Amino acid sequence: MSNDFVQSSDGIRWRAEWRPCPVCGSDNPRVIGTRGGRAHREGKGIETNVVQCMVCEIIYTRPVMIPETNPYDKTTSDEYFYNHDSKLKESMGESIAAYAEKVLRCKGKMLELGCGRGELLVGAAKRGWEVYGVEMTDDFARKAASKGINVEQSSIQKSSLLNQTGRYDVILLAAILEHLYDPLETLHKVHKALRIGGLVFIDVPNEMSLTMRIGNLYMRLRGRDWCVNLSPTFSPFHVVGFSPNSLRKLLVSSGFRIHRLDVVKWNNAFPQTKNLVEAIEKFSLEVVQYVGAVIGMGDGIVCWAIRE
Ligand SMILES: [Zn+2]
Repeated sequence: MSNDFVQSSDGIRWRAEWRPCPVCGSDNPRVIGTRGGRAHREGKGIETNVVQCMVCEIIYTRPVMIPETNPYDKTTSDEYFYNHDSKLKESMGESIAAYAEKVLRCKGKMLELGCGRGELLVGAAKRGWEVYGVEMTDDFARKAASKGINVEQSSIQKSSLLNQTGRYDVILLAAILEHLYDPLETLHKVHKALRIGGLVFIDVPNEMSLTMRIGNLYMRLRGRDWCVNLSPTFSPFHVVGFSPNSLRKLLVSSGFRIHRLDVVKWNNAFPQTKNLVEAIEKFSLEVVQYVGAVIGMGDGIVCWAIRE
């Protein structure tokens, strides 16, 4: 195993590690394309290969790029969540809690990993849930605490709120699993921390969406070896990727039963367009997203699974 250090233009130092698949340990992936640095329209991040495991279908990078410092510290919560609507997220939290009540036929304790500014938990608390959050980034955690949420400022790896046995009725991983270098280890901890019959809620980007497929095809047609999957060394720092199939397999292998799994339309953030080509690209992206959602290849996966 060889280690190298590289620095991206925003000053973050990255350690390159050659690791096997983070889920099944297999070491024979196929290359999807390159991403970051030279292979980025604005030169963001560090160039790395994006690969897909031939066994469990998880998407990850080779090498895996590990930041020496918390990359989210480079941005304020207002910048990072600039396209998130706080009120909308609170009402999503209420909907998530209401759905859990319907399945469990009770309310109880809810833990959110990577709770950001805590809006989902605020929504759940409005319905009478006892809520807890884990958030690594100082600015985000302070925002959540200011809303009265019980927040532990910690990485998921070191969290004592997560390191429990049978304590929670529901654990939320909303747009968080794709940020973790060790999704399998985290799901094992989630399994242990939930009571038997408890629920995990997960939403992640769909790396096999029509948008991703057409995006990669577009890169090929322009003669580039780039791909549009993941963003391992630039915001929003997605380091592993899922398809409906690979997420299902991961949950089952971690001791969960799938309650429901839906492929949904998501609104991707697209940078301000600066010229006609970019405006055409943006319009095309919106069309592809719409069509993808209609044919069941939307940009997001939303899943509820039961702890067995
Ligand atoms: Zn694998």
